[in-house]
Amino acid sequence: MSLLLVLEERGGKISRPSWEALAAAHRLALTQEITAVVIGAETEALAAEAAAKPVGKVVRVEHPLLKTYTADGFSLALHQLLQSQNPTHVVFPHTYQVRDYAPALACRMGQVLIGDVTGIEDGPIFTRQLLQGRLNGSYQHSGNGPCFVSVQAGAFRPDSNPDSNIAALEAQSNAGPASIELFAPTLDPAQIRTKPGEPFRESAQTVDLGSAQRIVSVGRGIKDADNIPLVQALAEALGAELAASRPICDNGWLPMERQVGSSGQTVAPKLYMAVGISGAIQHLVGMKGSQCIVAINKDPDAPIFEVADYGIVGDLFEVVPALTEALKVARG
Ligand SMILES: Cc1cc2nc3c(=O)[nH]c(=O)nc-3n(C[C@H](O)[C@H](O)[C@H](O)COP(=O)(O)OP(=O)(O)OC[C@H]3O[C@@H](n4cnc5c(N)ncnc54)[C@H](O)[C@@H]3O)c2cc1C
Repeated sequence: MSLLLVLEERGGKISRPSWEALAAAHRLALTQEITAVVIGAETEALAAEAAAKPVGKVVRVEHPLLKTYTADGFSLALHQLLQSQNPTHVVFPHTYQVRDYAPALACRMGQVLIGDVTGIEDGPIFTRQLLQGRLNGSYQHSGNGPCFVSVQAGAFRPDSNPDSNIAALEAQSNAGPASIELFAPTLDPAQIRTKPGEPFRESAQTVDLGSAQRIVSVGRGIKDADNIPLVQALAEALGAELAASRPICDNGWLPMERQVGSSGQTVAPKLYMAVGISGAIQHLVGMKGSQCIVAINKDPDAPIFEVADYGIVGDLFEVVPALTEALKVARG
C-alpha cells in the first residue's frame, strides 16, 4: 500500500482538518509510509511544517498558477503527481475545497471519491453516513487505480484514536524531519477556467465552526429569540463561537451557518457546551467528536447527558448567567 495525503493550507499554516486526515491516514496505512502533499505557489514553509509530522516524505507541488486555489489548477496538478507516484490510496480532509476539486480529480483517474468518511475498518472498509445520518454505509474499493477518500472533521482525532495517535507517533519518531521533494506540474493559464474570488469564509463573513476550539451551542430550551443574548454572553466570556441546534436556525433566531448536526456543520472543538439541547441523533453526529462536552439541561434524562463529560441538571436561565458571571470574575 502506498498512501498519499493531500494537506490543505489555511491562513499560511496546514489546517487542523488536515491533521485529522493524517490521523485517518495512519489508521489506514498502519505501518506503511505516508507521503504528504502540499500544494501552492510557495510551499516551503508548509512543507517544513508537514515534514515535522510522522510522514515518510513530503512533496511540494508548486507552480505560480497554484498561488490561489482553483479546482482546475489543483486537480490538473495533482493528477500529474498521481500519475508519477501511482499511490493505492489518496486521503484528503473533507473540506469545502476538497469537495470542490477532489471528485473531478478522482474522475480523471476513472475513480470515485468516497467522501465524508467517518470510520475505517480492516479491509479497508470505509464508513460514511447516508440519509442525513440515519444509516451508515460501508464502502470497499475495487478495481484498478487509486482509492480516493475524504475524512469527516472530528471523526479521526489526532490525539484520541489509539490507531492514529499522532502525538505518540511523533514521540516515537527519532528520525527527524521527513525528506522534502519538489514536483513542478505543467500548467497553462488557458487550462484554468475559473477566476478565483475571495475565499468563501472571508467574503461572506461566515463562521467556520469546524475550526473553532470552543463552541457554546444553544437549543430550543432557550424558548425565544430574545433570550439568545444570554447564551451569546456566555460564549463571549469563554471566547467561544456561538452555534445552535436546528430548530433555532429553522426559526431564524441564528443564521443557518451556525447549525450543528447532520444537516449542519460537523464540529470537533476542545470544548462544546450544549445549552438547552436534548441530544437528538441528528445533533449528536455533528458534535460527538468534541473533546469535552458540557451539557446544561433541566431534564436529567435528556440524551445529551449520554455523550456529555460534564452535566449540569438545571434551569439554563439560572445556570447560564451564573456561569457567565463566574467566568468574568475568574478572567478578571
Ligand atoms: C433529516 C433531519 C435532519 C436534522 N438535522 C439536524 C441538525 O443538523 N442539527 C440539529 O440540531 N437537529 C437536526 N434535526 C432535528 C433533530 O431531530 C431535533 O429535532 C433537534 O436537534 C432538537 O433540537 P433541540 O435539542 O434544540 O430541541 P428539543 O429536542 O426540543 O430539546 C430542548 C431541550 O431543552 C431542554 N430545556 C427546556 N427548557 C430548559 C431550561 N429552562 N433549562 C434547561 N434546559 C431546558 C429540554 O429538557 C430539552 O431537552 C434534524 C432532523 C431531521 C429529521
